[in-house]
Amino acid sequence: MKALVFHGPRDIRYESYPDPSLTIANAVILKVTKCSICGSDLHIYHGDKIGKTDYSAEVPAFCVGHEFIGEVVEVGADVFHFKKGDRVIAAGGSGCGTCDACKSRIGRCSKSNAFGLSTELQGGQAEFVQVPNADSTLMKIPEGVSDDQAVLLTDALATAHFGVSRAEIAPGDRVAIVGLGPIGLLGVELAFVNGASLVFAIDPVDARRKQAAALGAIALHPDEARRAISELTHGRNCDRVFEASGARASIELVPTLLRHGGNASFIGLPQGGTGFPMNQMIYRNLTVRAGIANVTAQWADLIPLLQSGRIKGDGIFSHRMPLSEGTEGYRMFDAREDGVLKIMFDV
Ligand SMILES: [Zn+2]
Ligand SMILES: [Zn+2]
Repeated sequence: MKALVFHGPRDIRYESYPDPSLTIANAVILKVTKCSICGSDLHIYHGDKIGKTDYSAEVPAFCVGHEFIGEVVEVGADVFHFKKGDRVIAAGGSGCGTCDACKSRIGRCSKSNAFGLSTELQGGQAEFVQVPNADSTLMKIPEGVSDDQAVLLTDALATAHFGVSRAEIAPGDRVAIVGLGPIGLLGVELAFVNGASLVFAIDPVDARRKQAAALGAIALHPDEARRAISELTHGRNCDRVFEASGARASIELVPTLLRHGGNASFIGLPQGGTGFPMNQMIYRNLTVRAGIANVTAQWADLIPLLQSGRIKGDGIFSHRMPLSEGTEGYRMFDAREDGVLKIMFDV
């Protein structure tokens, strides 16, 4: 088969890769139909360190990608919920499916693993992929959920929901979203659904601010955010802040936007030092939440919101191309060329 394969920093190639075969009884083989690049894929692309793996060092070539949907083409003997021909969403990462952490909204399984980080669990930016623990990792694409929305459910929308729900927005709250990548923009939609009366959307990129403004947010450049929010709220500031970038400057901005006793929820993966403002947290009685989403645990909340049209996720996929153009897709996504927000590959 053909797949996108990591050979080293800034070297992802579309090339032949061994066909996955069914090696686990609780797995299925999917024929991937659509897949997308995630901001976190760029950490691999840059040769950063993720967990114990340093991607700038020699690592065996592996197939990347953790955001994909597809059709079941082969079913292991211990799979009970899926059959050949089912159209399914795969969680970008999954655990054992049975432990307490797997079943909780907040916990993450100690056996949790993500697709496309090594040769251990092949990625889904490929024509075919084996999905272990299929019964707890997959979901049939529900009626009324588009393919675009299904791909968003593999990670971005689940992560946004996890982060926004952890900010514990109450009806009428003033909310700020820092970082308007796909997750931040989805966070704007979710904040309103959760009852925010005002959503301030903060990002240095003009086009992203415009997109947030179209969703009803008050869009602000980071340089003006603190002063503008103070003025617009008559010095009361925000009740909740959702941080979705992981950049040091964004993390440092968060406490300055919050009222005394407010909540901050962080989901951006920090790279390098964070400058985490502990003093401000202490002296201003701030509540801080952080973490990585248990993706499958978010689906039950999100499906009805998508089906009823309360959450749309429109405009998140700014670019579409065939998987065969994946090398160029990664290059332009990394370079943020042409206003790229998120790239969808047709397989
Ligand atoms: Zn992702
Ligand atoms: Zn588990």
